[in-house]
Amino acid sequence: MRVVVTGAAGFLGSHLCARFLADGHEVVGLDNFITGSPRNLERVGDDRSFTFIQQDVTKHIDIPGEVDLILHFASPASPRAYIEYGIQTLKVGALGTHNALGLAHAKGSRFLLASTSEVYGDPLVHPQTEDYWGNVNPVGPRGVYDEGKRFGEAISMAYHNKHGVDTKLVRIFNTYGPYMDRHDGRAAPEFISAALDGKPLIVHGDGSQTRSLCYVDDLVEGIVRLALSDHVGPMNIGNPYELSVLELAKLIIDITNTTSPIEFGPRPPDDPTVRCPDISLARSVLGWEPTVSLEDGLERTVAWFAEDVKR
Ligand code: NAD
Repeated sequence: MRVVVTGAAGFLGSHLCARFLADGHEVVGLDNFITGSPRNLERVGDDRSFTFIQQDVTKHIDIPGEVDLILHFASPASPRAYIEYGIQTLKVGALGTHNALGLAHAKGSRFLLASTSEVYGDPLVHPQTEDYWGNVNPVGPRGVYDEGKRFGEAISMAYHNKHGVDTKLVRIFNTYGPYMDRHDGRAAPEFISAALDGKPLIVHGDGSQTRSLCYVDDLVEGIVRLALSDHVGPMNIGNPYELSVLELAKLIIDITNTTSPIEFGPRPPDDPTVRCPDISLARSVLGWEPTVSLEDGLERTVAWFAEDVKR
């Protein structure tokens, strides 16, 4: 296949490029580096089957030749990034998705949208199933991201229904692993960075809010399976192992063997109280479930972060 990955220089985009190349496909990566880094492309840059185009996907996308599959992953993804780049986040969720769908329509390609568990907002249903419509504050600080993704899902379905584009919607739950931005503000990289630097781990509120963290290799496997399936989605892909943010901080302290203390700070507005995927659909349709335990995944991530700091 010839696969186009938008957001190729980001955390997940770079893993997807590497995976599709390893599976023998040709990959064209697009990115404007708003939150991604050319460093993330170093591991694929020398592959003759990989081409990179520096481009803002909110502008018209033109890729010469055939395209079989488009993975639309371009978007700031951490609260710190999408609050800073609020307008760019809304634009890439709306105009970027429109352009990527236009390319899929013109080329007859399959299209997969990286949506998010944030479409569920601060959920009133727990664990979250795909038929839950969510509890999102459109005018809160996270609205730029959540509503951009909700629009992305809606326009993908409109292209599917009106133009017959072969779309797939994946709702990705918190994912972590090597190649994450150490300073993007999400709990796992923040805690790991603080632990490695010997600084306090700052837990928001009393830390009783929950998260469910998926190791990146598991997520990529789920996305590949969904992309190759006939299922339209939306489909949750994430790890249903749920723990509190305070438990996560303590686990990272154990794994890194740090002397860093835990300190408590204010909860950001609209911070979800609970977050856990129901993955029954992925289990039954794709035969997929995560295989990497949180301890193993965190150990691999800590080892990568420790090496990365030396670069
Ligand atoms: P990331 O910030 O590391 O990667 C996103 C990439 O998109 C970056 O390289 C950025 O430069 C690029 N980008 C942003 N706007 C662009 C534009 N207009 N044109 C071209 N490139 C642009 O984030 P990530 O964690 O890898 O997330 C990737 C995708 O997965 C995002 O769409 C995000 O919403 C979704 N997602 C991620 C998670 C997670 O836990 N990592 C969870 C849910 C959804």
